[in-house]
Order: sequence, then C-alpha cells, then structure tokens
Amino acid sequence: MDQPDAPPLCPLCDRPIPPGAPQSLHHLVPKLRGGKGGPTVLLHQICGLMYQAHQALSPRKSLLCLPSRG
Ligand SMILES: [Zn+2]
Repeated sequence: MDQPDAPPLCPLCDRPIPPGAPQSLHHLVPKLRGGKGGPTVLLHQICGLMYQAHQALSPRKSLLCLPSRG
C-alpha cells in the first residue's frame, strides 16, 4: 500500500527522512565523472557525510548500489 504522504526512505539506513530533517542529495554518478544532472538519491545529511567519508577512505568500495527508481 502506497502512502502518498510517507516521507522518502534513506537508502543508507532504511529510515524515513522526515520533512524538515537535515538531508542531502547524493549524486549516484560522481559529478567528476559526468554525473551532473544525473540521478540523485535523498539521504539524511549525516548519512551523506558518512558516505562521503567512506568514499574518501575506500573509493573502490561503494556503499550505495542502488537501482534507479522509476
Ligand atoms: Zn539515513
């Protein structure tokens, strides 16, 4: 059952992102690799920061492996 008013889910922690909560839009394809204007996912701001930190430490490991929605 779809809930039209349900907040989006953060794919990193699988928890809802309530409206007004600090959030961050993450590019699935890095901007440096031509991802500008490409698909994005909404994450909690803290999750986005953690993700970026992980990427910086081990760029070959990707936490996010998401099929594009649609
Ligand atoms: Zn999250």
